[in-house]
Amino acid sequence: MKPAPFSYVVARSADDVVAALADGRTDVLAGGQSLVLEMNYRARRPARLVDINRVPGFDRLEPDGDVLRVGPLVRHRAFEGDTVPGPLGTLLRRVVHHIAHPPIRARGTLLGSLAYAHPAAEWPAVVTALGADLELTGRDGHRTVSAADFFRGPFDTARRAGELLTELRVPLLPPGTRVGFAEHRRTHASFAQLAVIAAVTLTQGRVSAARIGLVNAADRPVRAHGAEAALLNRPLDDPAITEAGRVAAEQDADPRPQPHADLGYQRHAVAVLTRRALAQARDQG
Ligand SMILES: Cc1cc2nc3c(=O)[nH]c(=O)nc-3n(C[C@H](O)[C@H](O)[C@H](O)COP(=O)(O)OP(=O)(O)OC[C@H]3O[C@@H](n4cnc5c(N)ncnc54)[C@H](O)[C@@H]3O)c2cc1C
Repeated sequence: MKPAPFSYVVARSADDVVAALADGRTDVLAGGQSLVLEMNYRARRPARLVDINRVPGFDRLEPDGDVLRVGPLVRHRAFEGDTVPGPLGTLLRRVVHHIAHPPIRARGTLLGSLAYAHPAAEWPAVVTALGADLELTGRDGHRTVSAADFFRGPFDTARRAGELLTELRVPLLPPGTRVGFAEHRRTHASFAQLAVIAAVTLTQGRVSAARIGLVNAADRPVRAHGAEAALLNRPLDDPAITEAGRVAAEQDADPRPQPHADLGYQRHAVAVLTRRALAQARDQG
């Protein structure tokens, strides 16, 4: 199908975007990999699109002090190489290869994925697990919302009408942090049925910090605080990993019925994937 008629404006600055959004009938066009699909199905009928692809500086991707700053035009593909140093770069690189396939990764943006908030998308759970902050810009200026507060449910976020997501700030992981990612999906390049992100810091052989994120294991991205606590001050050995998997499945996950997976299956898969992600982190060397 073709989209319903709409008009189109190209923005040259964040102010242009905010001005365009003020009519309440305009949508932001970033990579277009979700929005245009919905428009073609006529599930969305914006009166106008404001294209942010030509705003100078929106493609910034740079470590700054103890955070990584990500602008609205940083495509998924940017994380495939070694642009981001250290353990955070390793984690993002492992995750990105599970997002769709190369042409979509070349156009789609990380911030677009956060704004869209698909329940099975990987990035929302990554930024939630890592304790990232999001900057939103509207007519009243900027405000910052933690990832933990940003996602409210499937396709539902704390973004207010008229606001543009202008920056993501992800804390860098301490040197020596080990990372892992495990995903189950039904077909190649489809969305995740479930996935788990893990970043574990060891001090003198024991876990001093753990960040675990669950994809599609609840109505929003989950930071698995219970599983993280189960690892603290323990060596990252088989008993600790097994216990963390059990806690993630029984306490942290809050699965919803899915067409191809009942609730018991989903909890079992969370335990298995948590163990796999943690074992990958342990074996990183
Ligand atoms: C076949 C297929 C498979 C896919 N598989 C996966 C997958 O496995 N995992 C995954 O995570 N994703 C997957 N995707 C989605 C893909 O990652 C999209 O790129 C992403 O969800 C949206 O990013 P975008 O830049 O294309 O946003 P767009 O499509 O341009 O926009 C999406 C929504 O976000 C809004 N928006 C975009 N940027 C901003 C901003 N800066 N501020 C405010 N609002 C904004 C738009 O107005 C729109 O409502 C898949 C898509 C397709 C078509």
